[in-house]
Amino acid sequence: MTAQIIDGKAIAAAIRGEIAQDVQDLLTKTGKAPGLATVLVGERPDSATYVRMKKKACAEVGIQSFSVELPGDVSQEQLLQAVQALNANPDVHGILVQLPLPGHIDEEEILGAISLEKDVDGFHPLNIGRLSMKRRDPLFVPCTPRGCIELLDRMHIPIEGKQAVVLGRSNIVGLPVAMLLLHRNATLTICHSRTKNLPDVVRSADILIAAVGRAEMVKGSWIKPGAAVIDVGTNAVDDPSAAKGYRLVGDVDFAEAKEVAGYITPSPGGVGPMTIIMLLRNTVDSARRAYGV
Ligand code: NDP
Repeated sequence: MTAQIIDGKAIAAAIRGEIAQDVQDLLTKTGKAPGLATVLVGERPDSATYVRMKKKACAEVGIQSFSVELPGDVSQEQLLQAVQALNANPDVHGILVQLPLPGHIDEEEILGAISLEKDVDGFHPLNIGRLSMKRRDPLFVPCTPRGCIELLDRMHIPIEGKQAVVLGRSNIVGLPVAMLLLHRNATLTICHSRTKNLPDVVRSADILIAAVGRAEMVKGSWIKPGAAVIDVGTNAVDDPSAAKGYRLVGDVDFAEAKEVAGYITPSPGGVGPMTIIMLLRNTVDSARRAYGV
């Protein structure tokens, strides 16, 4: 059996078109565009690149970008004031503080200061708490986990009643994606670094979400024939033949697993493109909520 490839780039492009349409609808009805604010502290080149990518993605769909750039030695108080000013700005519907913050900053306090209604990353403890409770809906679902579920839905892969296994329990991927699967009535197993007999547990999965950050750890022999495999992992491995001296691979051995699975995401090109699109989706949803349309 050769798996159907879940093309994250193509699915993300389709959703980008839908979001652009939603932005136009909002403009027609309210005369307002959704707004996403990014807060960048210091001069880390990787953080600056991520912020640039997010602004570019916003521009492509008509979301207005607001940008706050602060020096690396900014005080806790100044940073808090910057967040509070964005909380108070009615044209800003989403606030994203680019992590990591410098060591002298209390990151938890800063993230906790973001208004719940503008927490488009979905990491506010109240949002995560609601995600974990029966019959409660969070205002925002974290972007990468939301992207994983969207990939399953767009491929018409049923979730209800299926055996789902999540590898990883991090706050940003493993835990929220597991809670989303539970909300959708999957029967759930969460695995982590202390899990015993991992290959046997993985073999029980109709739906496997891999988010461990271990290059090609999941082998083809671990996969249940016909399973849907969503590989969140993005790991750099040495490759002297590549221009940069490395290449990116997932947590799943793609070449082996695609011979057994029913559906599989490549990595890169699967979950990655969905993450930023879900940030745009959350921002537009927030603006619609703010204007009641
Ligand atoms: P973390 O390091 O925060 O969490 C990794 C999880 O995997 C932990 O729960 C850990 O267990 C578990 N784990 C580690 N080793 C093993 C093992 N040998 N067997 C079983 N479980 C193990 O990673 P993240 O959740 O932040 O990211 C996971 C991967 O997803 C990374 O490759 C990251 O780059 C990628 N990623 C991709 C994104 C995208 O947009 N495509 C976005 C975010 C992440 P324990 O809790 O016991 O330590």
